[in-house]
Amino acid sequence: MDGFVRVPVREQDPKVRATNFGEVCLGYNKEEAENEAQRCLNCKNPKCVQGCPVSIDIPAFIQQVKEGNVEGAYQTISKSSALPAVCGRVCPQESQCEGQCVRGIKGDPVSIGKLERYVADTAREMGIKPQGATEKKGKKVAVIGSGPSGLTCAGDLAKMGYDVTIFEALHEAGGVLVYGIPEFRLPKDAVVKKEIENVKSLGVKLETDVVIGKSVTIDDLMKKEGFDAVFIGSGAGLPRFMNIPGEQAMGVFSANEFLTRSNLMKAFDENSRTPIMRPKKCVVVGGGNVAMDAARTALRLGAEVHVVYRRGEEELPARKEEVGHAKEEGIIFDLLTNPVEIHADENGWVTGITCIRMELGEPDESGRRSPVEVPGSEFDIECDAVIMSLGTSPNPLISSTTEGLDVNRRKCIVASEENGQTSKTGVFAGGDAVTGAATVILAMGAGKAAAKGIDEYLSK
Ligand SMILES: Cc1cc2nc3c(=O)[nH]c(=O)nc-3n(C[C@H](O)[C@H](O)[C@H](O)COP(=O)(O)OP(=O)(O)OC[C@H]3O[C@@H](n4cnc5c(N)ncnc54)[C@H](O)[C@@H]3O)c2cc1C
Repeated sequence: MDGFVRVPVREQDPKVRATNFGEVCLGYNKEEAENEAQRCLNCKNPKCVQGCPVSIDIPAFIQQVKEGNVEGAYQTISKSSALPAVCGRVCPQESQCEGQCVRGIKGDPVSIGKLERYVADTAREMGIKPQGATEKKGKKVAVIGSGPSGLTCAGDLAKMGYDVTIFEALHEAGGVLVYGIPEFRLPKDAVVKKEIENVKSLGVKLETDVVIGKSVTIDDLMKKEGFDAVFIGSGAGLPRFMNIPGEQAMGVFSANEFLTRSNLMKAFDENSRTPIMRPKKCVVVGGGNVAMDAARTALRLGAEVHVVYRRGEEELPARKEEVGHAKEEGIIFDLLTNPVEIHADENGWVTGITCIRMELGEPDESGRRSPVEVPGSEFDIECDAVIMSLGTSPNPLISSTTEGLDVNRRKCIVASEENGQTSKTGVFAGGDAVTGAATVILAMGAGKAAAKGIDEYLSK
């Protein structure tokens, strides 16, 4: 090996995996991981660490992998991250740690994500757990939501010695990790549940089926139930629609609903009691990770799938790896295309969608060139299902039931980036509930910052 090319990772064959829900990427074995670790130059000023929102000591854990010390590597990572097996699979490493790796200047960056995954998976198989607190602080913190921000905040606070309870609205913990991201990218029983068990092993209590704002309010938690501080990590689960004619037809879904049925309720399994439509031909509208997940789920349920996106290939917001996997599996991309109307039969079921061609105009406020319609270019795609994947926003339930909690015009909770402090004393927030839909690692970074902020607040 010349050091410029990374050790390739084994994957399920695209033709085979397009028909099953097994994990696509098979990860490194010991020999592959140790070979890849040899490519790390152990830089004096490691840029990769600066690119990691939770500041994992990347060169240190890779050095431990080189030495065959998986337990040491796991403890190094878990000082900074509660969910390494998750992050090793779904983080956009290409724009974070790996995007900064000096190896990337003349060749492939070190495969940091796959090495993190190797360490986390091997440590789990060996039964290694993260190290907990030695002394208790005698103070109680409530964490709302068990997604990556809540789990990270809870884990860090427990390690500091706080008595932490997570309140989760759904019957299972994990947030988007269990209801959104599909099994073929992130196995639930083998990976997500095990990492949640690790957080619980630090002493964190978990109460599911509790909707804060309905069953109990934040003010109740603080005034009646004796919590000294609260962290809100309730995510951004409210789907957006296009408001085009025909969107009310049967066979039109939000990506969230479609994916929740399949992932959380296991509707892809024929024995599940939750029904799911198995479309013959399906149009997925949008170009983000969520759209790729919905498209690849529909494909595995037997559909021919078209992804309709109003900008071009370069602008697709989904991770390049996911777009590549989707293409290999046979997803058809209709780029520079936008839906204008959905059609239904006399019983109200979707029969097709009219789209219009787009071209790229001047850059908009996000810096991306904004798409403009090409007049007279309308065309029809026949289909029996349309899945809308246009982004999500935070559910206003918590903000509308909490006195003195400020939100912005997008209904995101206003909180300090530095320590998660909101406008209400003792109440902190982070993750998608604050930023709007973002990424797992940014949510984890926010959970971490808030844990520090809560510790400072409670230590005054
Ligand atoms: C389909 C899909 C694919 C994605 N793919 C990727 C990817 O590949 N890489 C990546 O980095 N990011 C990805 N993301 C984004 C990422 O998952 C989110 O940014 C991240 O999960 C946000 O974490 P969070 O903790 O803020 O919120 P969430 O994960 O949304 O968790 C919030 C939790 O709070 C609970 N909750 C909400 N309201 C209440 C309430 N009132 N009371 C109690 N509990 C409540 C919810 O049930 C949920 O469990 C994806 C998102 C989706 C939807």
